Amino acid sequence: MPVLQEVLAANQGYAASFTKGGLALPPARQFAVLTCMDARIDPAKALGLSEGDAHVIRNAGGRASDDAIRSLVISYKLLGTREWFVIHHTDCGMELFTDETMRGLLASSLETATIDASGWHDVGQGPGSPEGQFIDWLTIANLEQSVVDDVGRIRRHPLAPRRIPIYGYIYDVKTGRLIEVPAATKAGAAG
Ligand SMILES: [Zn+2]
Repeated sequence: MPVLQEVLAANQGYAASFTKGGLALPPARQFAVLTCMDARIDPAKALGLSEGDAHVIRNAGGRASDDAIRSLVISYKLLGTREWFVIHHTDCGMELFTDETMRGLLASSLETATIDASGWHDVGQGPGSPEGQFIDWLTIANLEQSVVDDVGRIRRHPLAPRRIPIYGYIYDVKTGRLIEVPAATKAGAAG
């Protein structure tokens, strides 16, 4: 079955037994999670979330981009979250390239690139686009450091209140476990 039909059929099944229509808009458990879009992470299962419990903000890498911070600010200012988690993960795709790599691949073509032992290769037909050079791809060179950096950036942000603790973790895609990054949690301590 094509993906579109699969998704619509799954939704029909979900809606058929849906009982959560009365939930309040603000997250009931008053916390937010910033994590990677990686398909292997299911925040609801891994973190014990039900509908209505928490905000989950996802992007490539779970990075503290301007847009992630926009969401976190809305999350506390209008919707009352009181604790934030930054969760990066092992084997993240953001560790596998640099800005230069991505910009080169996009300049070459807009087809999906391939990777092998010698790195990324563009195999598609051109043309590509030079627009990639204007995006900071927020790649990850060191996993623990990226958690520390992102927690620190959020902590220092003038729109992030000091009273909100920010916890830094790495999710292990092999075991499903959360591993604390103590330096990040320290950097994110409430003041
Ligand atoms: Zn990732």
